[in-house]
Amino acid sequence: VPELPEVEVIRRRITPYVTGQTVLAVTVRNAAMRWPVAVEITSRFPGQTIHAIERRGKYLLFRCSEGTLILHLGMTGFLQAFNVSLVPGKHDHLDIALSNGWYLRFNDYRRFGLIVWTEDDPLKHQLLARHGPEPFDETFEGGYLYRRSRGRKASVRQFILDQRIVAGIGNIYANEALFVARIHPARPAGRISLSRYEVLAKAIRTVLGKAVDQGGTLLDSRTGSEYFEHFRLDLLVYGRAGQPCPSCGGAIEHGRISQRSYYCCRRCQR
Ligand SMILES: [Zn+2]
Repeated sequence: VPELPEVEVIRRRITPYVTGQTVLAVTVRNAAMRWPVAVEITSRFPGQTIHAIERRGKYLLFRCSEGTLILHLGMTGFLQAFNVSLVPGKHDHLDIALSNGWYLRFNDYRRFGLIVWTEDDPLKHQLLARHGPEPFDETFEGGYLYRRSRGRKASVRQFILDQRIVAGIGNIYANEALFVARIHPARPAGRISLSRYEVLAKAIRTVLGKAVDQGGTLLDSRTGSEYFEHFRLDLLVYGRAGQPCPSCGGAIEHGRISQRSYYCCRRCQR
């Protein structure tokens, strides 16, 4: 599932082919996404010049002259830029043709992706309005997490997965960051000290930043779902149940909180 690093890598990857270009046409082959592809994508979006692609949490914002296209990659979504005509595959649901001869292709095997158009402030759109700070914002630090977590009985993992607390983290990087911070994922969020939250805030930035850097180098030679697998080669605990902990060598445990998997080392994480 694409989280902040995957979305950010895609953003950086497609930006040079897209910014400053005008949308010539949009081909929708399958409009049945998490929300149906909005009619404005074919009526309003063509003719627009794309000034920038921004990211907010796990969303991409295509800032255009008269509005913004908001795109979420869902569970398996992927965007690639091409300048050669390739026969669309079964899961290539949408193409955006650009004035420089390139086109963007949206591929989504599970179709949980989402594409909407807004002519209002996109950051106030219902999808984004309640997002918390970005992990790389100045306001995101240990004291912030500490204040927001007081009185919360939910697990710290649930807490940092909440997009209203911090934007862009999903299950993979939540597990990774908690391992780096040596905090057990099931520990109640309200019972973690300020100093441990300071460590966690730093761990979140380290884990996400590293993943962006790795993705940036790997993406050049890989495509589609293949690329997401390669992204995860360097994970410390996620998906590694029973394998040795990279820190102490003990077995990595796998459990569930609220029906979602967590991975941790009981010796290293408390
Ligand atoms: Zn360990």
